[in-house]
Amino acid sequence: MSDTLNRRRLLKLLGMTALGTSVSSCVTSPAAAAKTNWGYIGKQGPEYWGKLSPDFQLCYVGKRQTPIDLQTASVKSIDNKNQESLIVKYQPTPLNLVNNGKTIQINYQPGSFIESERQVYHLLQFHFHHPSEHHINGEEYDMELHFVHRSQAGNLAVVGVFLKAGEFNPNLQTIWDAIPQTSGEENQFKDTIINASSLLPAERRFLTYSGSLTTPPCSENVTWYIMETSIEVSSEQIAKFTQLFPDNARPIQALNERTVFESANANKA
Ligand SMILES: [Zn+2]
Repeated sequence: MSDTLNRRRLLKLLGMTALGTSVSSCVTSPAAAAKTNWGYIGKQGPEYWGKLSPDFQLCYVGKRQTPIDLQTASVKSIDNKNQESLIVKYQPTPLNLVNNGKTIQINYQPGSFIESERQVYHLLQFHFHHPSEHHINGEEYDMELHFVHRSQAGNLAVVGVFLKAGEFNPNLQTIWDAIPQTSGEENQFKDTIINASSLLPAERRFLTYSGSLTTPPCSENVTWYIMETSIEVSSEQIAKFTQLFPDNARPIQALNERTVFESANANKA
């Protein structure tokens, strides 16, 4: 590989474009703004997202932003029977993963969904953050997994699962063995079949609230379901992710006028 290519690769890994796509040239047109570069450190970091592009304004002025610190002492029980249950219907899918420079994302074939409040949300992809984005009573976890779903009406629902250091996780390892090392790289395996439900805890009591995407444009049409039970992965498995992404967690946002609800029953799988 030539020096130039090495340099481009390094810049990409650092979350920058190789050839000076400056922020000022992006803000003039919405199409270009969609490509505005953002990251987790320095002048492209979370404190600056709202100023990087007019399309990212909500990151700065939004009042229903994610992540938040979930205070278990002040959650309310769900009183609406329709919200009580979170039905998860995930199908196996051939492994398709992409290193998008911000995280490792596993794309899902159509046909898997969750159902809540009589709405069906289709699973699009899942991805990882280190450390966790949500906190529980002020404490962060080692990592957080986000299952991203969309309804036919265009509303989003994300199921969050905390990962903590402990036992080696063979289901995660199938994915980890296939991680693309370079930003922009995608790996597809017809013969490796995974099932997202193998990364959900068996005990499915959850906290739910109305929030946003945790990455630009920070859109606020997202219903969050955070599992109270975490899953275990080994410290070596955590280290493999942090080598590529040392910190891809947005800082905690203000709760403002929102209420966090807790499901009453355990919703066991
Ligand atoms: Zn996420």
